[in-house]
Amino acid sequence: MGLIPIDVLKNTNRHNLGDSIDIVLFRIVRFANIERYLGERGANIILYESGKEFGKSLNTKSIDEVVKFCKDYKVGLIEIVNKNPIQIRVYECISCSGLPEIGKKLCYFEAGFIAGCLENILGKKVQVRETHCAGLGNDYCQFEVKIL
Ligand SMILES: [Zn+2]
Repeated sequence: MGLIPIDVLKNTNRHNLGDSIDIVLFRIVRFANIERYLGERGANIILYESGKEFGKSLNTKSIDEVVKFCKDYKVGLIEIVNKNPIQIRVYECISCSGLPEIGKKLCYFEAGFIAGCLENILGKKVQVRETHCAGLGNDYCQFEVKIL
């Protein structure tokens, strides 16, 4: 089974409970302890690559579409803080906002997601690295884009 398309995932058939869930449950799944099975590096790579595959699958044509998707799905509020190199800031990140400083960045899935979206938009391979994160003690996430 490959990536399940978003249009398929939208069919919840939850007439009583609806489509929204508590963010805590999302975070329980998002921060499942896959490090235990794959090691820290392996887990981070899987998250990044999964995010990238998902980002690509959206086929976004512009940054504005990415910003809108992230707002509509409450992923976070995106601000482009610099164009060269591209630096993208995310406020109220779905994954890490409000979490304590642990001396590590947390948003590998989100970094990959940005990479996947940008590869479609720019038509170039990119590498995205998180530079600021709640896990590092910041009150927003920031990602730096390297065009390969
Ligand atoms: Zn973060």
